[in-house]
Amino acid sequence: MRLKNFSKRMVVVTLPHEEVCGAECYCTAGQHLQGAHNPRTGDVGIRQVSLLVARSLHIPAGVTTEELPEAFVNAGQVKTLLNTKDLRKVA
Ligand SMILES: [Zn+2]
Repeated sequence: MRLKNFSKRMVVVTLPHEEVCGAECYCTAGQHLQGAHNPRTGDVGIRQVSLLVARSLHIPAGVTTEELPEAFVNAGQVKTLLNTKDLRKVA
């Protein structure tokens, strides 16, 4: 399924893991730096924590996307934009 942006502005949609990921996870792996206390030495240091970053769609005005997974089209925020006709499904 492809989506076309019929609005006159850029549409940005986040695709939360809980909503769009099932058997396949579309998120990207990110890193987060976190301050941490080392209980052994008492030092405070920085440690790197891996986390999942939800995928997002950026669709400029008037642009049609590539073929998207069905799960993206069924995401809550996309459905809302389909209802307002800002986004429409195209073949
Ligand atoms: Zn995911």
